[in-house]
Amino acid sequence: MNVPISEKDIPSSATGLIATDLNALLRNYEKLRGLAAAAECAAVVKANGYGTGASPVAQTLASAGCRTFFVATPDEALALRTDLPEADIYVLDGLIPDSAPAFSDADLRPVLGDMDEIAEWAEHCRNTGQKRPAAVHVDTGMNRLGLKADGQHRLLADLSVFDAFDPSLIMTHLACGDTPDNPKNEDQRARFESFLRKLPPARASLANSAGVFLGGPYHFDLVRPGIALYGGNPFSDRPNPMEPVVRLLGRVMQIGKARAGDVVGYGAALRLQRDTRYATVAAGYADGYFRSLGSSDDHAGAVAYAGGYAAPILGRVSMDLTVFDITDIPDGVVRRGGFLELIGDRFTVDDAGACAGSMAYEILTSLSRRCHRVYLGG
Ligand SMILES: *Cc1c(COP(=O)(O)O)cnc(C)c1O
Repeated sequence: MNVPISEKDIPSSATGLIATDLNALLRNYEKLRGLAAAAECAAVVKANGYGTGASPVAQTLASAGCRTFFVATPDEALALRTDLPEADIYVLDGLIPDSAPAFSDADLRPVLGDMDEIAEWAEHCRNTGQKRPAAVHVDTGMNRLGLKADGQHRLLADLSVFDAFDPSLIMTHLACGDTPDNPKNEDQRARFESFLRKLPPARASLANSAGVFLGGPYHFDLVRPGIALYGGNPFSDRPNPMEPVVRLLGRVMQIGKARAGDVVGYGAALRLQRDTRYATVAAGYADGYFRSLGSSDDHAGAVAYAGGYAAPILGRVSMDLTVFDITDIPDGVVRRGGFLELIGDRFTVDDAGACAGSMAYEILTSLSRRCHRVYLGG
């Protein structure tokens, strides 16, 4: 991230603030597109663009040439359609019974995950006399969505449904892409390839963010990165190759002093070891700053930053407020009305995920509506 946040970007009423660096997002997109240069690079913008704001994110990526977008739900797809009248929009969760007309009215593409969904989409297409596009999802070993072995057999035994609708994408999803050395990855890739060989030629897609890094054999015709666009680490067992995109800032409401032996916050969970200067920040778990980021006498918690200086968390995270130790930060760096960076370049979304016993995906998608949002660059 290298677009600085200037105070004029920040509304005077903001307490928690999410800053999304659209230039960093674009650099991440270009990196992924370069890694999978022989394939189309789509973008997954489900869950409100992993919490960053689907609309600005998708429009920024569209302006860089991204043509295909994936969301999870029909509502997300309808919202995205108003922003992107021309894009191909796939709905990953699949076809809810009787919802085919709503999909076709907005030119949305369901990701069909079983034979009932396939039959319903085919019938809708026959009834309306239009051969509409949809993806067919095959389960290669994750046991979540997608055609299981019996569904795959039934489809292959009678491919006439493809006379009714256009299978614009055949896809599957990796269960263990975040651990590249896991043999499950190659197993799923091989199963997918063997299924594709039995079908008439169609565009195929397997790779999420992690899959993009697994190399050419995993790219097929289209890759579907999500988390890596937003700067989260696609791997759980190696360093993050992506650039941070999101910062969470919290407004300093009060600067206080307490003595060694005093306690901080709910439950008096933390007893101060030294005389302490602290900053009370107006962001808490209702802003998406997880309660599990707090500290106690037994364990350290999250660290915030101000001007490059570390401010360790003190005690529990409350709903609306969190306290940080600024004893070691020179006077004047942290002031009432200023901001601490709770998540960003130094304490990253991945660090927050690890510290909270979660992962970057959940941290990002939990950033709440109460936070103000600003977009930098783009
Ligand atoms: C969420 C999702 C993706 C994107 O995954 P990332 O790990 O965020 O890159 C791709 N494909 C499917 C089916 C998904 O559900």
